[in-house]
Amino acid sequence: MRHFSCDLCGKGITAATGPRMVLKLESYPAPDEVDAADDFAETDVVEEVAQLLREAEDAGEDVPTTTRKSAFDLCVPCHRKFLSNPLGRSRVAAPRFSGN
Ligand SMILES: [Zn+2]
Repeated sequence: MRHFSCDLCGKGITAATGPRMVLKLESYPAPDEVDAADDFAETDVVEEVAQLLREAEDAGEDVPTTTRKSAFDLCVPCHRKFLSNPLGRSRVAAPRFSGN
């Protein structure tokens, strides 16, 4: 049987500690701006994005151009902790809602 440990706290996850919670993350560049740019020909937007990517590359930035998926094993307490603050934001700052 494969041994799993929590990717956050490092503790072993066994039948005694509770279920292994699998967290899957998926991130990708959102195409929102392409949709909103009705005034521009599609090729212009593509070229614009390509230009931005080239500039970022020149600046030495690692630009995510593809979908990235990651999976983590979490113990139950860490899973609960993660869900309460998924982005690890400071608890001092109150969540802001745009009102939309
Ligand atoms: Zn843990």
